[in-house]
Amino acid sequence: MNKKMIVGVDLGGTTIKLALLTVDGQFIEKWEVVTDTSNSGEKIPLCIAYAITEKINSMNGSKENIVGIGIGAPGPVRLEDGLIFEAVNLGWKNYPLKEILEKEAGIPVVVDNDANVAALGEMWKGAGNGAKDLVMITLGTGVGGGVIVNGLVAHGKGGAGGEIGHITVKPEEGSPCNCGKEGCLETIASATGIARIARDKVKNSKLETKLKYYYENNNLTAKEVFECYSNGDQVALEVIEEVTKYLALGISAVANTLNPEKIVIGGGVSKSGSVLLNPLREKFNQYAFTPVRNSTDISIATLGNDAGVLGAAYLVKKFVLKDVN
Ligand SMILES: [Zn+2]
Repeated sequence: MNKKMIVGVDLGGTTIKLALLTVDGQFIEKWEVVTDTSNSGEKIPLCIAYAITEKINSMNGSKENIVGIGIGAPGPVRLEDGLIFEAVNLGWKNYPLKEILEKEAGIPVVVDNDANVAALGEMWKGAGNGAKDLVMITLGTGVGGGVIVNGLVAHGKGGAGGEIGHITVKPEEGSPCNCGKEGCLETIASATGIARIARDKVKNSKLETKLKYYYENNNLTAKEVFECYSNGDQVALEVIEEVTKYLALGISAVANTLNPEKIVIGGGVSKSGSVLLNPLREKFNQYAFTPVRNSTDISIATLGNDAGVLGAAYLVKKFVLKDVN
């Protein structure tokens, strides 16, 4: 076993996903470890280094075969030196992840924000299909965003470039967002936002709706909304109309600014597929500038949970191996 390999790491608040890949992005091994966030996350770099060493040893391999470790981390990142400005759910503030992990592992490390990394993964191996101008929006518990222009991630001055989830789409009477503002896209198009809108509508609607049953059983999530929508439920339709309206508003603003080749929608909510995509595209066509509407494609992400580790591996390919343009 002497071929060159890359380690891709998707660092989350509850689990760390790891993968060993060939330099072409073929999976060799995929595994997970629990994230130890005790003592302000001080054990995390050691856990990552240990997980990699253990895996290499179990394969009778050598660390010499690993050309680099790419990591997607939650929070704004400074690409040059792999500093995490802040990762609230890991307990990190101004944390020099690259420096610490390179010391622990003895392998070059490249770090970027997790949403940016997912965008790179989809660009390289997923729905992006190699498009160098791509915007990815991840609709999960929150709303993440990654903007790639001509193959490069837009980080901006403070590492917060591409934070599409915090575009204010509802300037009046918006719900409070985790970021401290009100009316952010995240408060509407995240799984949490969709469930909240559904609860509000159920409370105020006189229409017959199955959502009421889920609500009364404390079981009303985004999933039930999409399910009821597919079955023609009128209140679920109202919820999806509202969600896709604001999502299209945010996306079209980004698209009118960048005219990307692809907009890729990922995250748990995107599993609803065409149920989300069709009304979204209809409203996008209404809000987007005509040349943008005619040239920007919207599609659902294809990599699922693998986008993070693949994008992280791409960081190594680009910045350590320098074999992408
Ligand atoms: Zn916000």
